[in-house]
Amino acid sequence: MRTPMVPISLSLLAVLILTILMVTFQPFVHSATAALFYILTILISAMTFGLSASLAAALLAALVFTYFFIPPYNGFGIISVEDGVRLVAFLSVALLVSGLASRAQRQAQTAARHAAELSALYQLSQALEAEVELERILPIIARATVAILALPGCQIFLTDTTGTPMLRATEGVTGTSYEEVAMRADQHTLGLLRVTLRYGATPLSAVERELLRTIAAQVSLVLERVRLSDVAGQARILAESDRLKSTLLSMVSHDLRTPLAVIKGLVTSLRESSLIWTESLRRELLMTVNDETDRLNRIVGELLEMSRIEAGAIPQVRSWHDLDELIVALVEELRPRLHTHPLQLDVPDDLPWVRISYQQIEQVLRNLVENAAHYTPEGCPIEVWTRAHEQEVRVEVRDRGPGIPPEMRERIFEKFVRVAAVERHAEGTGLGLAICKGLIEAHGGRIWVEERVGGGAVFAFVLPVEPLPALPVDQSNRAKVD
Ligand code: ADP
Repeated sequence: MRTPMVPISLSLLAVLILTILMVTFQPFVHSATAALFYILTILISAMTFGLSASLAAALLAALVFTYFFIPPYNGFGIISVEDGVRLVAFLSVALLVSGLASRAQRQAQTAARHAAELSALYQLSQALEAEVELERILPIIARATVAILALPGCQIFLTDTTGTPMLRATEGVTGTSYEEVAMRADQHTLGLLRVTLRYGATPLSAVERELLRTIAAQVSLVLERVRLSDVAGQARILAESDRLKSTLLSMVSHDLRTPLAVIKGLVTSLRESSLIWTESLRRELLMTVNDETDRLNRIVGELLEMSRIEAGAIPQVRSWHDLDELIVALVEELRPRLHTHPLQLDVPDDLPWVRISYQQIEQVLRNLVENAAHYTPEGCPIEVWTRAHEQEVRVEVRDRGPGIPPEMRERIFEKFVRVAAVERHAEGTGLGLAICKGLIEAHGGRIWVEERVGGGAVFAFVLPVEPLPALPVDQSNRAKVD
């Protein structure tokens, strides 16, 4: 609050200066003219300084006006009724003018303050509109509260699960003299908005307190919005984990039980002493048991690996390797098994060395090549292409199969996602590409699929190329497989 002494003194000073001027030129100044000048001064001080200053000015003006401009001049003592009426009229007009003008001034000030508060509140709500993170929201609110109310400081407390208020944001200075309002939603208290009082612990005016409540109400809405968006986020996560659980369950019940049922059936038949098996049939049945056990083993292995990747617990023993050697060795190993699909290699032998887990990158490439063979018709060629570019080396596995529909190109790397239309083979878990993504990303690389010009899919991944260590690379390391 501004002390009223300064405006009162200034108003009185204005009346005194005017009086000095008019007394100096008294012979030329008529009392009506003097009265008009005094009224003008009172009007100006009412508009500038408000009621108390203009009232003081009006009283002083009445005194000096009576003294200098009402007979007997230069003294008090009214000698005619007319002069008395003139003084009363002057005083009434002076008081009326100061009352009206100061009210107009107050209204203008209130309107300006309301406009400023509204605009500050609007700006606050705009600033909070897009934010859903409490850590960013709370400082904005504290800063805005200090600015809107022109106070030294503000603190925001949020109630924790036990109902205890915890300090979450501070702006400006804090002190022992403060006022606070609660922030509520429905019936429960969300927290407290505490403001530090101005010097001298001047309490907030009714208007300021109202404004503080308005801010607190707005903050409550924002906090409620954040809470709801958290709840919605948790519900989404729960729904997602439910979906994964049910996928896992259906997988366990189908993909795991099918090979188990086959194995169990075959072994039971083989043990049946009443049945006589020819040697070739027996061997064939045992081969099937063997294949089904492999399949079971693969599914369990993939599940285990995926859960390790998700837990961020994949072992990362990396060493320097020549990528072209890895690719050539793998393709030559796969060639006899994938004889239905001609394997073509486009791999320069001057590829930079990369620091990788040999076994993991080989696993990624094996998966991509086997997928290409698995999901393309017989006879379709598969090409493995590699180039180094800037600080990356890029590997592509290209096929001429049905490709991946555009809307599935990102999702295909999520776990348990398979493209229904391409599924010519019932077996498969939808985990292979998710594992590839986990392994490549653990190496600081990226993996994606794109459309191949002329038809088919291109599965591509890049690995970062790090500068080789200064010491000459140990040749024995070259062949090392971790
Ligand atoms: P899985 O092969 O066990 O189903 P993956 O994660 O390896 O799991 O593959 C997910 C799906 O992506 C496959 O089911 C298949 O529908 C599709 N897919 C993968 N590779 C290819 C490819 N080269 N061409 C067409 N579709 C493919």
